[in-house]
Amino acid sequence: MDLEADKLIDDIKKIKKELGGELIILTHHYQRPEIVELGDEVGDSYLLCKKAFQSEAKYIVFCGVRFMAESAEILRRDSQRVFHPDPFSGCPMADMSESGDVIRAFNELDDVWGKDAFVPVVYMNSSAEVKSIAGRRGGIICTSSNADKIISHVFSMGKKVIFIPDEYLGFNTYKRLGRGLENIAFWDFSLPLGGNKADELRKKDFVLWKGYCHVHTFFTREHVLEARRKFKGCRIVVHPECKPEVVDNADASGSTEYIVRYVRESPVNSTIIIGTELNLVRRLANIYKDRNIFELARSMCPNMFKITLSKLKVTLENIPNKNRVELPDDIKEYSREALSRMLNIVG
Ligand code: SF4
Repeated sequence: MDLEADKLIDDIKKIKKELGGELIILTHHYQRPEIVELGDEVGDSYLLCKKAFQSEAKYIVFCGVRFMAESAEILRRDSQRVFHPDPFSGCPMADMSESGDVIRAFNELDDVWGKDAFVPVVYMNSSAEVKSIAGRRGGIICTSSNADKIISHVFSMGKKVIFIPDEYLGFNTYKRLGRGLENIAFWDFSLPLGGNKADELRKKDFVLWKGYCHVHTFFTREHVLEARRKFKGCRIVVHPECKPEVVDNADASGSTEYIVRYVRESPVNSTIIIGTELNLVRRLANIYKDRNIFELARSMCPNMFKITLSKLKVTLENIPNKNRVELPDDIKEYSREALSRMLNIVG
């Protein structure tokens, strides 16, 4: 850490002390180590929103990408305000589902499947606007740890599903549920009917939006095979946003929180290879020095990396006037409905 960084850390600590219980700093698992150090809580996006909601803090500073700060804004109490240190720290996967494309897809599926025949299931990693569009249509939010429960629930209602925006989380989950892969249609949002023929689409029960997280699709089957050659007897755990060829060849797959738990519960001296964002892998290796922890390959999220000490400091010293996250009331109302449906199903 250089002198400038040390000074920024001291300044941030001073502001934190001044604001005391009025402030909570939430840091996502993929943040830079120095940001995580300064946070009050570290976790995945949904867990952090819950922490904020449960805390007494008036000011919530969310160190993560835009959709995460928006989710905190959706769930916050009336007395709370949310801030995001870099409004330009977005998520490319969330950006792959634009509201206009999503509305068009719903209208086209209305024509082919019928208006009440399907339920949109929208991954947490999406904009508040897309969450609200789905919410208006009875849609449900899911996270990577509960996607299987939410999708099963919709099928148990006798409905079809359009899953937005992560093709790979959707595919891996559908496969895990043991459903026939021939019932999947892929939706290319740049084409009419997602590039499908109406007759074919009618036979399917699961439409997968062709969005992806470049951090997780970076991993390949060759990375897995190479790790097994290099580290005899290792265990490989990956995130379900990875491609099926990676998930299928790993020993385990699960959400960020699942990966953290997997490492915590692994035996001392074991070798664990992790296929997820590099900052999390490095932090786990630091915490669990009595295990051998390595990345499957170096893959980082440049958007998470945009949150720096100086941006955090500027946000904190300007509270409540800078970098506030605000959303129109109707977007909050309908996206909260979609989130509530998730909570009603998974508790
Ligand atoms: S890791 Fe992937 S899903 Fe998460 S913010 Fe970065 S690009 Fe988006």
